Formats: sequence, C-alpha cells, structure tokens
Amino acid sequence: MMGLGMRFRALVAAVGVLFLAVTVDAVADSKVNSVRLWRAPDNTRLVFDLTGPVQHSVFTLTAPDRLVIDINGATLGAPLNVNTSNTPITAMRSAQRTPTDLRVVIDLKKAVTPKSFSLAPNAQYGNRLVVDLFDNAADAAPPPAPTPSVATVPAVPVTPVEPAIKLPPAPAGKRDIIVVIDAGHGGEDPGASGSRGQREKDVVLQIARELQRQINGMKGFRAELTRTGDYFIPLRGRTEIARKKGADLFVSIHADAAPSAAAFGASVFALSDRGATSETARWLADSENRSDLIGGAGNVSLDDKDRMLAGVLLDLSMTASLTSSLNVGQKVLSNIGRVTPLHKQRVEQAGFMVLKSPDIPSILVETGFISNANEASKLAASSHQQALARSISSGVRQFFQQNPPPGTYIAWLRDSGKIVQGPRDHRVNPGETLAMIAVRYQVSPATLRSANNLSSDELKIGQHLTIPGTELAAKE
Ligand SMILES: [Zn+2]
Repeated sequence: MMGLGMRFRALVAAVGVLFLAVTVDAVADSKVNSVRLWRAPDNTRLVFDLTGPVQHSVFTLTAPDRLVIDINGATLGAPLNVNTSNTPITAMRSAQRTPTDLRVVIDLKKAVTPKSFSLAPNAQYGNRLVVDLFDNAADAAPPPAPTPSVATVPAVPVTPVEPAIKLPPAPAGKRDIIVVIDAGHGGEDPGASGSRGQREKDVVLQIARELQRQINGMKGFRAELTRTGDYFIPLRGRTEIARKKGADLFVSIHADAAPSAAAFGASVFALSDRGATSETARWLADSENRSDLIGGAGNVSLDDKDRMLAGVLLDLSMTASLTSSLNVGQKVLSNIGRVTPLHKQRVEQAGFMVLKSPDIPSILVETGFISNANEASKLAASSHQQALARSISSGVRQFFQQNPPPGTYIAWLRDSGKIVQGPRDHRVNPGETLAMIAVRYQVSPATLRSANNLSSDELKIGQHLTIPGTELAAKE
C-alpha cells in the first residue's frame, strides 16, 4: 500500500517528467547539419554534427534489418549524404516525426550491435551524436588462414574441412620479435594539421605503413599496425592491441604542432613517473591526450577533466618498461637525427604517474612539426617518409640486436655467434665512394643504398651511413 509520503514523491516525479518534457520542447531547435562516416575493420562509426545538444535513443528492427535513431529536439538542417560503400549500410532515410523529433532510419545488409553517445563541443567540432555500428561476430569474415611456410606444406591436398592447416609451433627459441606500430589519431580525430591541409592522421599512417614494410623485411622481426585505415581507436584500445599481439615494442607515430609556426624538429618520447623534462613534453602530452576527447572513447565521461589524462602517454606509462624505452628511444632518436633536424637531442619524458607494472617498452615518435610549412611538406613526401621509417627501423633493430628478448630468432643468432657484426655507423671520408664503402664492409651496394634510403650513389663528405649487420641485413 502506498503511504502518503510515497504518493507525494510519485506526484513530484510525475511533475518532474512533465517539466522535463516542457524543457526539451523549449530547446528543440538543434539542427542536424551533416553526417560523417568512418569504417573500421569491425565497426562503422556515424557522427552527426549538431548545432546544439539533443536527447537521443537508438534501437534495431529486424526483417529487414534496420537501425532507428530518434533525435529529440532536432530538425534536419541539410540532407544526410554519406558514402556507405564497404559498410553494412545500404541506405539512410530521415523523417520529422513531430516538429521537434527527427527519426533517422538506416537500412542494413545485416544486423549490427549499436552503441551511441553524445559529445560536447571542443576546439574542432560542435555538438555531436556518435553512433557506432559494431559488426556482429558471426558476420565478421573469418581471419585469413596463415600462409604455411614451404616446410609445412603437405604433399597431398588438404581437405577444406579443417578450419586451417595446423602449423607446428615455431621452433623453440626462434620466434619473431613483434613490433606494434601505432599511427596516431584517425577517423573523427585528424590530429594536428599543416597550412596546406596536410593532416597528421594521414601522414602518420603512411609512415607507419612504410615502417611496417621495412620491419617485415628484417629477418626475425614482425610488425603489426594498431590501425590500418582512417578510423579512430580509443587510446587505451591501442595499447590493448599491442598486448594482444604480444608486442615486444610499441611505437606510436605522430607529427607535432606548436603555437609557433617556426617550431621544427623531430623528438622521441618515453614515459616517466617523474616531472616532465620540458614544457614541450607537457604541452604535447596535453594535446595528444585530447585525442580521446575529440574521437570519443564512448566509455569515458568526457566531462571529467581527469579523463583527459587517459591518453597515449598515460597509457604508455602503464605499459612501458622505462629503461628499455629510453634505450630504444635514444637509438631511434640518433638515427632520426641523420635524416631530419631534432627538436631535442635526447629522449624526452612526459611526467605521468605510472599506474601499472610496466611490461611493453614503448616510445612515441614525433616525426616533425606539421605546423611548420617546410616540415609539413617534407612529412607528406614519400621519400622523407621512407627515410624517417628507415631511421626508426634501424634504431629498433640496433636495440634488439643488443637486447634480444629470450626465445627469439635474434637471441638465437646472438647466442649461436651468428651475428658476425652488428650494424655500424660510417662517416664518409673525402674520396670515398659508395662502392668502396660497400667493399670495405663486405655488403652489397644495394644493401647500403637500401639501409640508408639513398636514391643516388652520391655521397657527401661527413655524411653518416648505417652499415647493416651482416647476418640481419635482409630476409633470406
Ligand atoms: Zn599526434
């Protein structure tokens, strides 16, 4: 039985609901001005750009599969045109259900699992409604079967009944060293931008892909990317990918921006639980961490200022093995110094609390200032991207030749004395030619060219060349 007090509270609640409804009607003047779409390997993100805050609800319908998005307090400001190729979406329709309630219906090829949230305005965008359409697991394409190596291909045809050819485990103690390369930003979050429209998210993905190609060309190494296209991965998701892939090293690739257009040079960051070693580090940490706020992590409260710290660097600090990070960072930095000016001569550290036991050495490479017109055009040039990637892969290789994780092919090489000679540095003397240097170090001119990303054989006196380790110069 309902007591007087409860009845009173029910009445207050009812009045509250009424009041809320009136309030929503009073502010029902937001417009949906555009929709943007990003396709990731396992989900499709729709971002509706709004002129103000809205309430919304999302539900699915079957036979045929549809997704309904009710946006309360909004009208359509412009037609919702978006390219839906390679997505589960076949069409997008909208109708004004009441003067203030807009319904968007998305026709689907197959069912999806939706997840939605609102984002408040920030420096780049206004109010947004984000709807993520996750592919249902059963629909996802099966992963491609691993390509068997020659030794494991059976002589007789394999019936396709078995899901995949069972590969014997890699010989004990000869696994590849795994480097997970993280191209910063992506999708909704463009990162920094250059004066001619260069976008950090595009440039860093190109460098990351080139770096992956180069590392995969080094025997005993395998590189994986956190993102393979133009879509956003929450920052914490990136380190999770690294952990899932069993990373021995995590390398996050970025391009800097600074209030001063004159700022230039590359830098390498590792994590610290001590104070930031420079103001730049602090500024960078803030701007890179803003990423989740822009891209929308979905599961974090975006009002919570502390959550802004839940970014790349904080995450890296949770996983970084600091000594190794500083070591590999220094090697990468000195290699980068040969192809582009450095912003700082030593590995910088950004000051965040280490929250968890470190387990993956991690570095963040700022490849240059995209806010500097000269560096922006260099960063967009494929020759410079190759040179940057080469300097990073050289640094990574040098680090692991000196510090091979136990059980890896590189450790086996070292222990069995097969590393005849690790990589060395050669400073070009007057009168020396590429051919002479190649003979002296018993490597081919082609190997020298490739290791140093040379497009011609012309050398400058004083130029530094990397002489690759003889055993590890290339895949056999
Ligand atoms: Zn960045």
